[in-house]
Amino acid sequence: MKTMKRISSQYDFKRLMNPRAKKGEAYVPTDVEHMANIITHGGCIVPSILAMLWMLYIAQTRLQFLIAVVYGWALVALFSVSCTFHTLAFSGRFHKLRHFFHVADRAVIYIFIASSYSPWLTLRDFGGIEDEMMWLIWIMAVCGIIYSYTFHEKYKVLEIVLYLIIGVCPAAVAFLMREPSGIYELFLGGITFVLGVVFFKSDGVIPFAHAIWHLFVLVGTMFHYYAINLYLIGQEVDEININKEA
Ligand SMILES: [Zn+2]
Repeated sequence: MKTMKRISSQYDFKRLMNPRAKKGEAYVPTDVEHMANIITHGGCIVPSILAMLWMLYIAQTRLQFLIAVVYGWALVALFSVSCTFHTLAFSGRFHKLRHFFHVADRAVIYIFIASSYSPWLTLRDFGGIEDEMMWLIWIMAVCGIIYSYTFHEKYKVLEIVLYLIIGVCPAAVAFLMREPSGIYELFLGGITFVLGVVFFKSDGVIPFAHAIWHLFVLVGTMFHYYAINLYLIGQEVDEININKEA
């Protein structure tokens, strides 16, 4: 009886997901997984627009306003592109458009990583290497986008390595930040993204793995958004200018 129960629960568990993708192919989610993918990021679109508007509202200086535009736009793009791709994937139609949005879904992650570093590199003093780091991060992001477009779903391990290099390595400069407030939130957000990668790679192993990855992205983003609003935007004078005057 116990064995019967075990077999039936395993069976139900497996019905929630499909087998792992073959080499060079994308995983095909089950219908419930598709729905979870759409809802987890679709539900973030309106809040991300409001989050952007809030940043624009509290921005006090020209630089803060610029940051609000770049980071806010990246937030909205991340969730909108993701939701559009997953909706198209669920529809099973519009193959060309779906492919475009699948590439865009991967590419927007690079933009989002660069946009997450930008507010700190713009408004904080890193001992004079802010501009160089900004160039480096955005050039890496452009390379990532070109990679996504050229080798879409071909070298999946390399894709993860690239995300981790671009996402994690520049974080080393955080230790150069003269004013360290916000560093804990930055690291908490970063760790959340990295842990989420485990689920990003677990399609067909853990049911709803991709939707769980979406939730990790959401939580990591909330840490970073909170930190930007608390420590960078809303002050009458930008920190980087205070330090320069001192
Ligand atoms: Zn997704």
